[in-house]
Amino acid sequence: MALIVQKFGGTSVGSVERIEQVAAKVKKFRDKGDDIVVVVSAMSGETNRLIDLAKQISEQPVARELDVMVSTGEQVTIALLAMALIKIGVPAVSYTGSQVRILTDSAHTKARILQIDSQQIQKELKAGRVVVVAGFQGVDESGNITTLGRGGSDTTGVALAAALKADECQIYTDVDGVYTTDPRVVAKAQRLDKITFEEMLEMASLGSKVLQIRAVEFAGKYSVPLRVLHSFQEGPGTLITLDEEESMEQPIISGIAFNRDEAKLTIRGVPDTPGVAFKILGPISAANVEVDMIVQNVAHDNTTDFTFTVHRNDYHNALQVLEGIARDMGAREVIGDTEIAKVSIVGVGMRSHAGVASRMFEALAKENINIQMISTSEIKVSVVIEEKYLELAVRALHTAFELDAPAGKGE
Ligand code: ASP
Ligand code: MG
Repeated sequence: MALIVQKFGGTSVGSVERIEQVAAKVKKFRDKGDDIVVVVSAMSGETNRLIDLAKQISEQPVARELDVMVSTGEQVTIALLAMALIKIGVPAVSYTGSQVRILTDSAHTKARILQIDSQQIQKELKAGRVVVVAGFQGVDESGNITTLGRGGSDTTGVALAAALKADECQIYTDVDGVYTTDPRVVAKAQRLDKITFEEMLEMASLGSKVLQIRAVEFAGKYSVPLRVLHSFQEGPGTLITLDEEESMEQPIISGIAFNRDEAKLTIRGVPDTPGVAFKILGPISAANVEVDMIVQNVAHDNTTDFTFTVHRNDYHNALQVLEGIARDMGAREVIGDTEIAKVSIVGVGMRSHAGVASRMFEALAKENINIQMISTSEIKVSVVIEEKYLELAVRALHTAFELDAPAGKGE
């Protein structure tokens, strides 16, 4: 008998019919004798609807009150799911975050979980009930309702699994697992049976949207085996695991991530003196703009060029700041480019294989794709290229690293 935490996202509980389907699925596991804790999101669209309502009162609603309101989305689904379970003969009981006592800090709309009191849940499980817990929400020390940030139900699921020492945390969603890359870009993308936490974390932060980054971090930290599965299709899904050994047998690269959310800024002809990087990036970070990739060229004529990328939403803000800096420093010019994309290859296999980066560059060269920036870490290589070549690049890399599904598989 296992203890399993199952998390169902907004589309999986998006209608009464779907909630009944979820109940049937939970019943199947319970009939096998497993103890089940279910975490649910709000019905799809509900959280957005609630936020829109608040914005009709104020562009910047008071965060405490916003949390009181948006947490109701999940309160509705826990009750509906508990009702649906009871209707088909499964004893079930629902709990809000504050009832469980998912204790968080007081950072409304982006609270962090500090502690979970699992006693009540244990008691309910012992009594033979399925426990349905509201995702995304908690309570602070003073009893204020808090929420964990968008997509936060994943984190609730993982945190509960850690607190309960569950055998597995299953994240049910609208895809049947984690893929080598986005199947909408590469038809031959394949579902991975396994991926390590570290790889998943890179994939998530580099643009793959299957799991909330914080949930993956949490699962890795507490060694919670995490599995991504399709809510309504049968299949093994993808297991996210600590176990690097077994993944080593897989190809060197586990996946290819990409995103179009960045923009590039270059300041040319800055004096090559100590402190330049700080003089440029200090004001950028003071303007609350996060910087991703950074390249400083080797100097000639005692001046150098400095290039970095920021989120596209921050582009205009960063450009303005940079133009001010350029005037102050007497730099030659500032150039900006929003038509870029970042493509990254990710895999723990890189640690034990040389030449992975050059294989990547070769594949891009063959397609005549110019690389504008490069950054590497132990398990990833990222490049910035012209946005219009993004799909071509991803496809070429998918083939070059032997990730394409064999003919007949995939679509
Ligand atoms: N309902 C919340 C949201 O839409 C939390 C979640 O779905 O995970 O962000
Ligand atoms: Mg979600």
